[in-house]
Amino acid sequence: MLPMSKNVKGWSNWSGSVTATPEFIRYPKTIDEVVEIVRNECMLEGRYLRVVGSAHSFTAVAASDHVLISLDEMQGIVSVDAAQQTAVVWAGTKLKLLGELLHEEGLAQENLGDIDVQSIAGAISTGTHGSGVSLGSLATQVIGITVVNGLGEVMECTLESNPELFKALQVSLGTLGIIVQVKLRLRNRYILSYESKRMALTDCLTQLPDLIADNRHFEFFWFPYAETCQVKLMNEANDPTPSNKVVEYVNEKLIENTLFGLLSGLCKIMPSASAAVSRLSASNVPVMTKANYSHRIFAAQRSVRFNEMEYSVPKEAMTSVIREMREAMERERFHVHFPIECRYVAADDIWLSPASGRDCAYIAVHMYKGMPYKRYFEAMEHIFLRYEGRPHWGKMHTLKAVHLQDCYPKWQSFAEMRKQMDPNDLFISPYLRELLID
Ligand SMILES: Cc1cc2nc3c(=O)[nH]c(=O)nc-3n(C[C@H](O)[C@H](O)[C@H](O)COP(=O)(O)OP(=O)(O)OC[C@H]3O[C@@H](n4cnc5c(N)ncnc54)[C@H](O)[C@@H]3O)c2cc1C
Repeated sequence: MLPMSKNVKGWSNWSGSVTATPEFIRYPKTIDEVVEIVRNECMLEGRYLRVVGSAHSFTAVAASDHVLISLDEMQGIVSVDAAQQTAVVWAGTKLKLLGELLHEEGLAQENLGDIDVQSIAGAISTGTHGSGVSLGSLATQVIGITVVNGLGEVMECTLESNPELFKALQVSLGTLGIIVQVKLRLRNRYILSYESKRMALTDCLTQLPDLIADNRHFEFFWFPYAETCQVKLMNEANDPTPSNKVVEYVNEKLIENTLFGLLSGLCKIMPSASAAVSRLSASNVPVMTKANYSHRIFAAQRSVRFNEMEYSVPKEAMTSVIREMREAMERERFHVHFPIECRYVAADDIWLSPASGRDCAYIAVHMYKGMPYKRYFEAMEHIFLRYEGRPHWGKMHTLKAVHLQDCYPKWQSFAEMRKQMDPNDLFISPYLRELLID
């Protein structure tokens, strides 16, 4: 019997930038059901298949007009080894649930991005990252993967058992197979202190080496057309500090979401107000501290929807890139009020990871949903590309295989591995063909 399917009228990603009309969406509950979908509904019927996590990517990486699989019914922990600080988890598990389940076992992930609604498989598959120069992307926390390939075969893979496949699979956009379980390298649960403060942008840029070195996690948000930025620091602490709930509510719900949403609406109607709104946001950056278990500190609420482009550049390029971005902003006066998010990630050796082979700075530009973004993003992309930029796989960019092949030394090896895992291109949508093949 076929697994459950929900009625499909149309599918869209979180920001609404991508829409699709899958013939059907399947919600398998077991690995056998995943295999059945691959073999009987796709291989035999000549349909392609994409797997979707939480649809939080800004590009069409998860979109399908044929078959879409969601692993929402495959969530939770499969097994835990507390002594080894590892756990095997279902690939569809949402990061928020994962954080709470691991916490109950006395464990935690070493780093996370700034939201926790993604699925673990979706997050690792695009190279999702947090900030911290000594910490890799989420994919570097993976030590084992169980995957259903394009022939419907179930394969278990670790660095030891199959190093080539493992390095290809860690960041693979769902093009080598459907990841059904991942084994994670964890650590004992820990507490993080969080500090948000205002700083002059020039001071922040001058002090970058110290800010990076002295903090486990450091990131900053630079507000266009303003002289100040928001600096966020996170470090290990001994005890949770009960936060002032009123201050937290005012800062994180009212200012960063409700008020920012209203101001964003204003900018959409009157784009010329964007610079003033950016300066207003810069002058109201929350100044606060709190401490809690790590998984409750990393994630922020994001109720204001936007589109985003993010590139990784070599770590040393941060200041030069920001300088060029500022010059372009002053010259072109783009109507943008969202801050530019600047983070750091440690180098890894994953074939298609934007952090492959280099410590990197990640720089992200955002535009409120419904406001024109192309001219702004393209101008910023030109700058990123002059600094050996590699796009975040889940965020907007204009690169195709012909450009990307020069960004990744292991590009050809990945292409060969993909052909072995998926000889019939079962996981290849038109978008992925342009991105990875043609
Ligand atoms: C508000 C917001 C905040 C964000 N914050 C950050 C951040 O802090 N840091 C960062 O790096 N990124 C961030 N992102 C980007 C986001 O983390 C990535 O796009 C991530 O891939 C989304 O996860 P998902 O579960 O929604 O996956 P989807 O977007 O649904 O899918 C992403 C890719 O993973 C593949 N995939 C999903 N599940 C599987 C599976 N089981 N097996 C194989 N492949 C699979 C899909 O086919 C697709 O190619 C943010 C995005 C939004 C909208």
